Amino acid sequence: MPALSEVLSALDALWPAERAEAWDAVGTVCGDPEAPVRRVLFAVDPVQEIVDEAVQLGADLLVTHHPLYLRGTTTVAAATFKGKVVHTLIKNDIALHVAHTNADTADPGVSDALAGALDLRVLRPLVADASDPAGRRGLGRVCELAHPMPLGDFARYAAERLPATAQGIRVAGDPERTVRTVAVSGGSGDSLFDEVRAAGVDAFLTADLRHHPASEATQKSPLGLLDAAHWATEWPWCEQAAAQLDEISDRHGWDLRTHVSRTVTDPWTAHAASSHPSPTTTLQSSASRAASD
Ligand SMILES: [Zn+2]
Repeated sequence: MPALSEVLSALDALWPAERAEAWDAVGTVCGDPEAPVRRVLFAVDPVQEIVDEAVQLGADLLVTHHPLYLRGTTTVAAATFKGKVVHTLIKNDIALHVAHTNADTADPGVSDALAGALDLRVLRPLVADASDPAGRRGLGRVCELAHPMPLGDFARYAAERLPATAQGIRVAGDPERTVRTVAVSGGSGDSLFDEVRAAGVDAFLTADLRHHPASEATQKSPLGLLDAAHWATEWPWCEQAAAQLDEISDRHGWDLRTHVSRTVTDPWTAHAASSHPSPTTTLQSSASRAASD
């Protein structure tokens, strides 16, 4: 069985910490470098449910995409929810390792996994990392659909291919407009509209889109927007990362057991579709009622 330090060096080679954004908090949160590792669990969020799952599974290492402490802390008291996570991990000899923005921009990275889940052909990064001579690393991916389809159909297709969440996928733009090319970015893609427009794609699939940026983006060009659940856009990375570690384990004869959590940790737990007429319909009908009165 490999020691934690050996597994961590392999993970660092996949997602070097120095490629993370300056504001990010990646790397090992807890764990004894000498401890043996047999079982590894991959998940998006280091929340208590996931840590409990790691305990149930008998995992020695939990690898998550999101950091536990992004801004540092002065306490890991179990009275705080993050402190409880730390206590549970240490009491059960489970290490926690985070690969966040260093996994986003990797080759393959989070958006490659997202494109893979949707069977898209990746053409190039949306924001290329200038330090990569191969031109494959960077944020987001510009992709091509194998079979162009209307935006509305593409949204339904993406909702079927991504893991199910309460949110599903919201769409902005003409549902009938054909989508041939799409930019994808796992996680919050709100800041990438300029790059998406410059890429000249038909649609942009990401998460956490807000009213004003989305409204402006669709006013400036006929770009279709697909707003999926943040967790769902990053979850495919867990499968990709587990497969990468499996391959390393085979190469070294480590015999690791990798697992991917299927627990939905998206914070949104329910979605109520409007059952009454839309505001536009209501306004029109009251206007026509007023006209006929
Ligand atoms: Zn994220």
